[in-house]
Amino acid sequence: MFLILIGPPGVGKGTLGAALEAKYGALPISSGAIFRAEIEAQTDLGRMAKRYIDHGELVPNGVTIEMMNKRLRDPSIRKSGFVLDGFPRTVRQAEALDEMLFDLSFGLDKAISLEAPADLIVGRLAGRIGCTRCGEIYHSVTKPPKRDGICDRCNSPLFIREDDKPESIRERIRVFWETTAPVIDYYSKTGSLLKVDASHDPASTFHQVVAGLHLESK
Ligand SMILES: [Zn+2]
Repeated sequence: MFLILIGPPGVGKGTLGAALEAKYGALPISSGAIFRAEIEAQTDLGRMAKRYIDHGELVPNGVTIEMMNKRLRDPSIRKSGFVLDGFPRTVRQAEALDEMLFDLSFGLDKAISLEAPADLIVGRLAGRIGCTRCGEIYHSVTKPPKRDGICDRCNSPLFIREDDKPESIRERIRVFWETTAPVIDYYSKTGSLLKVDASHDPASTFHQVVAGLHLESK
């Protein structure tokens, strides 16, 4: 199974990816996790990516494509399949991904667009607290850490990321749709797009995806 998840921050891509992995074994691959791994390993790509992330800017196409290309060539991916999250984010990246998939003889099943109103996402994301060390995310209401302000996994202090303040969330959603609308068009034209209403609970999102894949894959 080779899938792409497209959707603004907070729409539920991570949760859906985990559910798809549990049911189909497809490995969730997020651009965020790849960036963190490269930054931690202090590779040249990681150092370049960090400069942009530190300024709250998107990592440029060339750097992102290079990292993804490296990741998808890992031999285990052929067996597991993947669920991409956060990539491709531009038409240039979508074209580069098509080339990678062609090279590797992987057939894309669907690009899934998860859609929900901005107000609903702001409500979900406000209250998030993140660990700057391991990347774990908590929520003051739905997933509080065991000890106030301390990460359960690595004991590091937790912060409300600049990114998780309501005005920043709205701006990220706006930027997301502005940059990603052409990517959705791209997959719509190739007939690979599956639109899903992600404004309800994760189970509803998951069932729509399973139904959509089943109906359209046979
Ligand atoms: Zn942590």
